[in-house]
Amino acid sequence: MKPYNLMETVVTQKLDQMIDTLGCCKCEQCRWDIVCYVLNRIPPKYVITHEGELFSKLDTVNVQYEMDIVTLLTQAARMIQKNPRH
Ligand SMILES: [Zn+2]
Repeated sequence: MKPYNLMETVVTQKLDQMIDTLGCCKCEQCRWDIVCYVLNRIPPKYVITHEGELFSKLDTVNVQYEMDIVTLLTQAARMIQKNPRH
């Protein structure tokens, strides 16, 4: 067992849902740049979890932080689009 940052999954999933509306590049480099940008600006949420528990925890976190994550993803996409590193 090791601690796991739930926000990694929450942010990655949200990016996948939103990427078409963000209008940014979809290459791996740009996607990870966007994920890092967001993860560096929100508090991590570490858990030690068993399989099966993960999804109910994800839902709770999702609801709590959704607005922040959406705002940050939009900012990140804009910034990375202007200055892509790929
Ligand atoms: Zn790219």
